[in-house]
Amino acid sequence: MGRKIRTRYAPSPTGHLHIGGARTALINYLWARKNGGSFVVRIEDTDVERNMEGAEARQLAGLKWLGIHWDESVDVGGPHAPYRSMDRLPIYQEYAERLRQNGHSYPCYCTADELDQDRERQLAQGVAPKYSGRCRNLTEQEQKALEAEGRQPSTRFKVPSGKVITVQDEVRGEIQFETDGIGDFIITRPDGRPTYNFAVVVDDALMEITHVLRAEEHLSNTPRQILIYEALGLEVPRFGHASIILNPDGKKMSKRDESIMQFVDQYKDLGYLPEALINFLILLGWSPEGEVAEEEIFSKEELIQLFSLNRLSKAPAIFDTGKLKWMNNHYIKQSSTERIAELALPHLIQAGRISENPTEEERAWMTRLVGLYQEQLNNVAEIVELTAMFFRKEVYYSPEATEVLRQEHVPEVLQAFVAELEQAQDVSGETVKSLLKAVQKKTGHKGKRLFMPVRAAVTGEVHGPDLRESISLLGKETVLERLRNLLQNRDNILSS
Ligand code: GLU
Repeated sequence: MGRKIRTRYAPSPTGHLHIGGARTALINYLWARKNGGSFVVRIEDTDVERNMEGAEARQLAGLKWLGIHWDESVDVGGPHAPYRSMDRLPIYQEYAERLRQNGHSYPCYCTADELDQDRERQLAQGVAPKYSGRCRNLTEQEQKALEAEGRQPSTRFKVPSGKVITVQDEVRGEIQFETDGIGDFIITRPDGRPTYNFAVVVDDALMEITHVLRAEEHLSNTPRQILIYEALGLEVPRFGHASIILNPDGKKMSKRDESIMQFVDQYKDLGYLPEALINFLILLGWSPEGEVAEEEIFSKEELIQLFSLNRLSKAPAIFDTGKLKWMNNHYIKQSSTERIAELALPHLIQAGRISENPTEEERAWMTRLVGLYQEQLNNVAEIVELTAMFFRKEVYYSPEATEVLRQEHVPEVLQAFVAELEQAQDVSGETVKSLLKAVQKKTGHKGKRLFMPVRAAVTGEVHGPDLRESISLLGKETVLERLRNLLQNRDNILSS
């Protein structure tokens, strides 16, 4: 019987949750859930110079928001605690000691300058740079002498020469690496902290991780890690390296790439829905098979059912912003208006459209307003721009609206509508409907000839959401004011 499936996402707390990291986390989460296994989030913080205050919490909050829930981590603990590398230093020391005792490592006294010089010499000779091996065969006496100079050694792993390491990658198939291309690499720093390649092996082994699923950039680390597993006599997990994500131009993404928002928080802040983002992210480099192969919309539950490692793609995935917008629009349309309104509220408050502590009445009005535009929203933040005309005193008449309002029958229609509206007790959608009916009767104009002038006069546009609901939400006084103003100043307005 195989081992219980255990996967992990192991972010370094160096910044916000990146979309690439979120995709990696999602892949690991889905694989664990699909197999009834466990998903671990481990914080790899040994590269202390790069750690950023608050990044760990942000990573976790981002995952939580996406609905990528973990079974074991720094917050909930678990059978393999601690889950933060810097809290595991004694464990790494123990394993480093084992490697030393078994002759798999040695202290290295080289200074940064020496290493730089070696590197430059190798580059000048046209050979791929790797550690020269200068400290590999030092005698004990030589080591003592260097220590007497005050040099603090790091520890290097002794890479065996002339071997071929075969990685059976779940995504890429069999890949071979020659150990001769790999220099002896550092496993612990002078202060005892482990490097990533060493800590990750100890942690994955002790945490009984069965599948190491991560981004392609780590493929070249894999043979180093396998060497450590073998030297420690630990069971090697399966590896799978997901393809890189390219920006919409098909280029490699850099930190400063502004063609795309790279962080999960940015999407959250703009009012993307988590289910849209995970649906989109999983399709970057993965596709379902069988009957649903052509489909694009998948819930998390469906993905748990459908996910498989052999459908992860080797080919780079292109981040198609348009597709993400389309997907988000799909999920927004499917959501309850209450939910979207709740998400829209902070945006409207921030834009000064709604008071900070809205009354029940204001909230109800705002919910209807959001409902009016829900179908159109690619992200919730768009509500601010879309609803601008509800909050402006003045109406801006588009060229098309001006065109409509120039028609000869327009004053008659608008006057009749004003007369009806003045008498109205309320302006519910139903009332507006009957008012328009009355105008039709009185003037004989119907259809476009009736609705277009009203829409153009009230909203300044010829297109827009439901007219009755728009009028109803604008309210009697505002609508009357707009209509009267237009009737009084029609020549002026239309000539401008
Ligand atoms: N801490 C590493 C990173 O953030 C994790 C790599 C791995 O999954 O092995 O890239």
